[in-house]
Amino acid sequence: MSTFSLDPGPDQIAVRDWLHGFAADVIRPAAAEWDEREETPWPIIQEAAKVGIYSLDFYAQQYFDPSGVGIPIAMEELFWGDAGIGLSIVGTTLAAVAVLANGTEEQIGTWAPQMFGTPDDVKVAAFCSSEPDAGSDVSALRTRAVYDEAKDEWVLNGTKTWATNGGIADVHVVVATVDPALGARGQASFVVPPNTPGLSQGQKFKKHGIRASHTAEVVIDGVRVPGHCLLGGKEKLDERLARARERAAGGASGSAKGKNAAMATFEASRPAVGAQAIGIARAAYEVALDYAKTRVQFGRPIIDNQGVAFQLADMKTRIDAARLLVWRASWMAATNKPFTSAEGSMSKLYAGETAKWVTSQAMQILGGNGFTREYPVERMHRDSAIYTIFEGTSEIQRLVISRAISGMPIR
Ligand SMILES: Cc1cc2nc3c(=O)[nH]c(=O)nc-3n(C[C@H](O)[C@H](O)[C@H](O)COP(=O)(O)OP(=O)(O)OC[C@H]3O[C@@H](n4cnc5c(N)ncnc54)[C@H](O)[C@@H]3O)c2cc1C
Repeated sequence: MSTFSLDPGPDQIAVRDWLHGFAADVIRPAAAEWDEREETPWPIIQEAAKVGIYSLDFYAQQYFDPSGVGIPIAMEELFWGDAGIGLSIVGTTLAAVAVLANGTEEQIGTWAPQMFGTPDDVKVAAFCSSEPDAGSDVSALRTRAVYDEAKDEWVLNGTKTWATNGGIADVHVVVATVDPALGARGQASFVVPPNTPGLSQGQKFKKHGIRASHTAEVVIDGVRVPGHCLLGGKEKLDERLARARERAAGGASGSAKGKNAAMATFEASRPAVGAQAIGIARAAYEVALDYAKTRVQFGRPIIDNQGVAFQLADMKTRIDAARLLVWRASWMAATNKPFTSAEGSMSKLYAGETAKWVTSQAMQILGGNGFTREYPVERMHRDSAIYTIFEGTSEIQRLVISRAISGMPIR
């Protein structure tokens, strides 16, 4: 068990500096181009794969860092480089985490490496949960999975939306309902292997920010996957469904336990998303600080005005506060501390809101330049806006926190 320390160890510092170098030399210089192109930056993903940043091993190593801060440090540096490219590089981990969290050892061994491909032939993966009528309310999923016992196959039908890497991925992980009457408890996750007939990309979205990251609908039309593609296996699913049906029929035993397990998984992944937001905020703050020290108006640098200097002081303070929340939650997850006050949600809420606020302040400090694409802060501001929306909106984080602190079923 690791004791909490705000002092990263030599290994963490080495990883941080290595990632920072990659972000500064490879990601940042390419950011404006891929933002304009609104395309997946395959050459950069490939470069990341060649140096070992885009690989299952790399993320597994950071994930199992006993202090918990390996992932937040990695995310902050990559997203400091650029959020759109950063998400193109780490988007696959969303699907990988779904397999790691729900799959058997055999499924993890089969699918997780395939999601990344090899440095010479990189692949991406997609996690498809959201649907047109099921965003914040994940219990409303309509995508159906029906078991064909004779063939030991699952048949999937439905439409997914907002899938990062949806349609361009080799491996898709699809969340579907097996028993709609059970809501979220009647759902299961399935791996859809590469080139499975019936899965296709629908509309690709033109977005406000993180434009280098591909986001699209995924149409699932009579997709048949072998029985072994059900994550966790049929026996485990049947047991889970039986328990859920028992509870639905009136018995309450085990209900709180099931809910807490699901919540713990979400809580544990949220700080990583918060760390991405911090990377964007820090990048915009640094640009604004440099600009304020060099831009002269009324015969002196604009930072000589308390109004501007105090803005920068607040920006830096909020970024550091957000990082502390993210690191605390990551450390809690790594050391199995219970999230009694939804500390994971707190960290994502505060970091996402901070990124949006800090980047807007940065634009203001750059004046007219801040409003142009000659400077990166307008892109950073556009990119930051997703951090109050995806992986649970700010309102949903507040809902989770308020329920945790009050024990009340707040709606
Ligand atoms: C760029 C991008 C990438 C994404 N990537 C993925 C992905 O890879 N895989 C995936 O499955 N999904 C992905 N998503 C989906 C994302 O998680 C959802 O957009 C998000 O959960 C919100 O759902 P929604 O858009 O349907 O909004 P809604 O749920 O319709 O919410 C609309 C508004 O209502 C508010 N609201 C809803 N319910 C409540 C409530 N009970 N109390 C208070 N306010 C409420 C929300 O906070 C929000 O402000 C992505 C989305 C985007 C935009």
